Amino acid sequence: MNYEDTVRYDRQHVWHPCSQEKDYELQPPIPVARGEGVYLIDKAGRRYIDGVSSWWVNLFGHNHPRLNRTLKNQVDRISHHIFAGFTHEPAVELARRLSALTPGNLSRVFFADNGSAAVEVALKMSFQYWQQSGRSEKIRFVSLSDAYHGETVGALSVGGCDLYRKVYQPMLLETYQARGPDCYRCPYGLHRDSCDAPCFETLEKLVQEHRDEVAAVIIEPLIQCAAGMRIYPPVYLRKLRVLCDVCQVHYIADEIAVGFGRTGTLFANEQAGVAPDLLCLSKGITGGYLPLSVTLAGEEIYQAFYDDYQSLKAFLHSHSYTGNPLACALAVEVLNIFEDEKILQQLPARMGLLDRYADRFEALPQVGEFRRCGLVAAVEMVADRSRRTPYPWQQRRGYKVYKKALERGALLRPLGNVVYFMPPLTIPEPVLEELLETALQAVKEVTAC
Ligand SMILES: *Cc1c(COP(=O)(O)O)cnc(C)c1O
Repeated sequence: MNYEDTVRYDRQHVWHPCSQEKDYELQPPIPVARGEGVYLIDKAGRRYIDGVSSWWVNLFGHNHPRLNRTLKNQVDRISHHIFAGFTHEPAVELARRLSALTPGNLSRVFFADNGSAAVEVALKMSFQYWQQSGRSEKIRFVSLSDAYHGETVGALSVGGCDLYRKVYQPMLLETYQARGPDCYRCPYGLHRDSCDAPCFETLEKLVQEHRDEVAAVIIEPLIQCAAGMRIYPPVYLRKLRVLCDVCQVHYIADEIAVGFGRTGTLFANEQAGVAPDLLCLSKGITGGYLPLSVTLAGEEIYQAFYDDYQSLKAFLHSHSYTGNPLACALAVEVLNIFEDEKILQQLPARMGLLDRYADRFEALPQVGEFRRCGLVAAVEMVADRSRRTPYPWQQRRGYKVYKKALERGALLRPLGNVVYFMPPLTIPEPVLEELLETALQAVKEVTAC
């Protein structure tokens, strides 16, 4: 199929994710032919810097020789088999390694095939744990405003982004929502680098008040990504850990986006020195090659399900592709690459480059903040900088930056008035610089009038 036919048939038959399909009338989808490192290459040979890691999944670039080889080797053995009653080395090795690498003593690994499913698993595990531990009144979940935990009904219920959930409100679970940290518009007038997170008190009060009926608090550690890369300090997580212990509530950490090095450490919770009771991982876990997710639990939760079959305490959750061997083999190789190629040790140089651009972005009159955590950065455009007034969402400033950057060969994605960078961890410094220059130019033009 040539370029034009691919686009034409796409428009006749394909329904794209997270898109107003009508937008494609003016900005047709770009048919990708192949990938090469941090570049996507379309059917006309045009190259795009993948500045968002293809929606936060890619870690080491596209068409990666080691990951390709791993996948091919596993295909020649077996691509998939049932995971109940059977097991395989890649899953076992992955579970063993993740247990050792993740914070705390999360010794048990449950497999699923996407992030939303990992969140559903964590919610159900927490819920069932309390049912089987003599605390059957603990049936509610607490989450933060503007949180994002996925699109399935349970995951959406603990989400807080109106854009994705408002229309579904009547079909969602009843949950409690606390106002989350918003450091750019801090109501206390503090700065995230030096504060003690007094904003935690809203979550604290809510959990204390409802402690008897709350099963778990679910949170995105350090960065509320879909909310517009809202970055907040580790002290918030330390306070949460204490609160959850005191109130006997599970702490569910959703590191689906921030896990695997994005924040500068392998897992975001490391920066707070705390461990969750349940940990959800996905996205980067296979280097962005195949769908896979895991939910990790500690021994105490695991043991609450461990009994004779007749006790009916088992966790009877499954997905058809649970523990897919291709995906698990890739995930093991991802961990090998982290080690062999000293990926985390090389991040600070790139993070420094992001820092150097902070001043250049913030010199633009309509840029309210350039914020960074690890190799994730975000530019928030505002109508009035002194009042931090957002542009009206109908103006779609972020989307305009996205379109301008595409014309210049860079893929950025908007989140309202925020444009962000979440490049593959191995992006070469000159390419990262090119990406930042392109974004700077696009933001300048889009905010000029
Ligand atoms: C992407 C994401 C999810 C959902 O993962 P999917 O694989 O898209 O279902 C959940 N939580 C967070 C924090 C995410 O970024």
